[in-house]
Amino acid sequence: MTATTPADVTGEEHPGGEGETLLSVSGLRKHFPVVRGLRRKTVAAVKAVDGLDFSVRAGETLGLVGESGCGKTTTGRLLVRLDEPTAGKIVFQGRDITHTKGAALRRMRRDVQMVFQDPFSSLNPRHTVGSIVGAPYRLQNIKTEVGIKRTVQDLLELVGLNPEHYNRYPHEFSGGQRQRIGIARSLALRPKLIIADEPVSALDVSIQAQIINLMEDLQNELGLTYVVIAHDLSVVRHISDRVAVMYLGKIVELADRTDLYERPMHPYTVALLSAVPLADPDQRGKRKRIQLAGDLPSPLDPPPACPFHTRCWKAQEVCTVEEPPLAELSPGHRVACHFPENAPHANPEDPRQRDPSVPSEDGVVPKELRDAEAHQAASQAPAPPAPAAGQTEPGPPPTR
Ligand code: SF4
Repeated sequence: MTATTPADVTGEEHPGGEGETLLSVSGLRKHFPVVRGLRRKTVAAVKAVDGLDFSVRAGETLGLVGESGCGKTTTGRLLVRLDEPTAGKIVFQGRDITHTKGAALRRMRRDVQMVFQDPFSSLNPRHTVGSIVGAPYRLQNIKTEVGIKRTVQDLLELVGLNPEHYNRYPHEFSGGQRQRIGIARSLALRPKLIIADEPVSALDVSIQAQIINLMEDLQNELGLTYVVIAHDLSVVRHISDRVAVMYLGKIVELADRTDLYERPMHPYTVALLSAVPLADPDQRGKRKRIQLAGDLPSPLDPPPACPFHTRCWKAQEVCTVEEPPLAELSPGHRVACHFPENAPHANPEDPRQRDPSVPSEDGVVPKELRDAEAHQAASQAPAPPAPAAGQTEPGPPPTR
C-alpha cells in the first residue's frame, strides 16, 4: 500500500504527493433510459451515475463506498468501459478513453482490468482454469499456446494456487480459490489499474482476509493501482489510501482514509460510520447509532438540490433548493454539504458553509442560530402578571 496522501478530484497533482495521476474522471454520468410502448419511446432515465469528479494516482488504492444502488458498480463498469458513459470524460494515462472503441479499446484493456464480485458466476463453468486465466492472451493475440500455459501456471502460483490445477474446472475450487482465479485472470496482461467490484463480499470472513492480503501483496510486488468498490466500511478502511463516499450517483465526500474515518464531515458518512460494528467490547454502547429515516430514494427521480436532504437530520431549507458543491474544506478532504460536521467553518468556495453564529449576507440564518435565538427570546420574555388577590385564573371560555 502506498502512503496516504492528500488528493483532489480534478486530476491535478498534489503538493508533496507521490505518483502521477493515472486516471482522472470529470463530470461522469450514466443515465439508463426507461423506454415504454411499441415505439420504445424514452419516458425517463435512471440516473445511476450523475456527475463524478475524482482522480486516482499510480500506486494508490481508492475505495468507493455507499449503499446498494448508489452507483458504485456502474462507476466501475464505466471505468473499464463495459458501459458507455452518457456524459463526462475519462482520462487514463493522459489519453481520453471516454468513447474508445475497437483496437484502441482492446489496447486499453491490457492496462485496465476488473475483478468481479461473485467468483461463482464470473467464471465459465465449462472452461478449465487454464482456459479462463489464459483467455486474455488469446483475445489479445499476444502469446503462443506454449507460452500461455507456462505463464498461466506462473500466475496461478503468484495468487497462491497450485499450478498443477491448470486443467481443473471452477466447481472443483472453493469460493476463495475461485476469487484467486479471478484475480489471476485480471493480472494476466500485467495491467496498471484494477477495478475490484466487491472482491470479498461473497466470501467467508477468514477467506476475505486472505484475499485482501493477497491484493496488498500483489500491489506491492507489481506496483498495481486499485479502485476497490465495497459496501463494507471495515474492508475499505483496511485496504484504501483514500475513500470516496457515494450517494445516489454522486460523490458526497472524498478524503484520505484516516481523515474520513476519524473526522467524517458529511452527515451520510457520519451515519454510515455509526453503523460499523465495534470490535472493542468496552466501546460498545458508548457510540450513538444514527438511524437514517426511509430508504434510498429512487435514482429514477432523485431529490432536487442536496440528494440526501430527504433523510438528513441537519437538513434546512437551503438544502432543498441549492445543491452543495463538492468543496475542499481541509487539505484533500472534499465534502458536498451546506452544514458539514467536524468541519472548519467559513469555506471560501461555499458562503453557506460558515460559522453558524454569523448570519450570511443573503439573509439565510442557520437553524442552530434560529433555535438558539428562539430559546433565548422565550427565556427573556416578561412573565405574565400574577392574578390580584381574590381573583382567580381566567378559565376556559363558557360553552353553550
Ligand atoms: Fe444534510 Fe443539508 Fe448537508 Fe445535504 S446539504 S447533507 S441536507 S445538511
